[in-house]
Amino acid sequence: MATATPLQMQDAVSQFLATPRKLLIDGRWVAASSGKTFDSIDPATGEVLARVAEGDKADIDAAVKAARRAFESGPWAKMSASERGRIMWKIADLLEQHTEEFAELETLDNGKPISVSRVADVPLAVDLFRYMAGWATKIEGSTIPISGPFFAYTRREPIGVVGQIIPWNFPLLMAAWKLGPALATGCTVILKPAEQTPLSALRLGELAMEAGLPPGVLNIVTGFGETAGAALAAHPDVDKIAFTGSTEVGKLIVHAAAGNLKKVTLELGGKSPNIVFDDADVNKATAGAANAIFFNHGQCCCAGSRLFIEDKIFDKVVEGVSESAKKIRVGPGMNTDTQMGPLVSEEQFRRVCGYMEAGLSEGAKAVVGGKKVGNRGYFVEPTVLVNTNPKMKVVQEEIFGPVVTAMPFKSVDEIAAEANNTSYGLAAGIWTKDIGKAHSLANKLKAGTVWINCYNVFDAAMPFGGYKQSGWGREMGKEALELYTETKAVCVKIN
Ligand code: ADP
Repeated sequence: MATATPLQMQDAVSQFLATPRKLLIDGRWVAASSGKTFDSIDPATGEVLARVAEGDKADIDAAVKAARRAFESGPWAKMSASERGRIMWKIADLLEQHTEEFAELETLDNGKPISVSRVADVPLAVDLFRYMAGWATKIEGSTIPISGPFFAYTRREPIGVVGQIIPWNFPLLMAAWKLGPALATGCTVILKPAEQTPLSALRLGELAMEAGLPPGVLNIVTGFGETAGAALAAHPDVDKIAFTGSTEVGKLIVHAAAGNLKKVTLELGGKSPNIVFDDADVNKATAGAANAIFFNHGQCCCAGSRLFIEDKIFDKVVEGVSESAKKIRVGPGMNTDTQMGPLVSEEQFRRVCGYMEAGLSEGAKAVVGGKKVGNRGYFVEPTVLVNTNPKMKVVQEEIFGPVVTAMPFKSVDEIAAEANNTSYGLAAGIWTKDIGKAHSLANKLKAGTVWINCYNVFDAAMPFGGYKQSGWGREMGKEALELYTETKAVCVKIN
């Protein structure tokens, strides 16, 4: 465990944590209608970090009413796209000005190292708002040369009231990924943060109000998935639900959404293959393979959790990744030299430990790791498993922790089928200097993102999402915007 002294949190952060947090409905901060609250836990200690309002169906109803009103008749409905873009740009500026505060909130609530929240989570969220702010004025239809004496054109109109349910692995960034395209297109939103990590979204709500977002455009209802989340997914007056989380819950969302056939987009789990050929730059590939699984403690839906290594360099790469794993400084996220913090929750900690035990009992061998770390907080060792086979749970199922299975392969001909041999299809990595091989394999992989000689590269302009059971639709890029609009065809008789 890293032992450096923890960062002293900013006064703004301690004050934010000391005040019970409320729901944002119709531009006002209100207690849950039931009066209930729940605790947000610091995963580095297992202790209570903040008290948060526990919204449920009644609060979702109130939030949907506010969002509907704002969509149909509020100032938002009349606002020009340029003004919408300006407010979004202001949100980005405010967020950037409060980078350190958000980084600390994120680290305390989620556990991730402060060095990561500062340079990844917050700046990527800022960039996303700016990118989407630019799109607000560029959402265009087209003219269509149809047969006969008609003039036909399309309009892209906002889809309406949108429910957005987000996970705990990148709480602020996931809020940004969801809110950006919704606000750029002119939708109104009910955001349901994950119960494990509600804090940064609530603080973002304050900044959004400060930036001039009219009441009811963004409503934030914190609470549990089975109550608040389920009520939002099933609500008859919600036009679209956008969900990021587990594949299991994604299927529940689809069922719940069927009542009014609301539109659904899903960004779900993964078990992404990361493929290293023997003609790769082995040092870079090894470092890349370690980053692919250990970044954010493996709590990434696109984590490179199945590492395929061409047999001639198998031992070398496994040794390199294992050496990297040993050197990772595990400790509380608020320690500035920590490289890997705790897992987000006790539930997640038990799950990941359970997978490590299952792998070992099924015959896998841990070259490094395989155990929990310490007795306080939810820390586990970065783990590299070998001697696995494709039937093992650790190879098939998403672990969502810092656990990679390394497997040798013989040739480029067999690897695409092996890499695709899972129900998921979110991402994949390829490491080789042979560009022909890289591109032809990229074409064969059933994955929404393929990284070649890199991994975990994200950009607001690059679409992200899954094939197969990894999801429906895309986040980011212009693809995301399209999924927040309806296309209306208008046809005029001209003589
Ligand atoms: P994890 O298992 O990694 O915690 P989940 O998919 O359970 O991920 O959670 C992601 C988000 O989905 C969270 O905001 C959670 O509250 C919400 N959620 C969980 N269950 C449901 C449900 N039945 N209906 C709607 N939302 C849910």
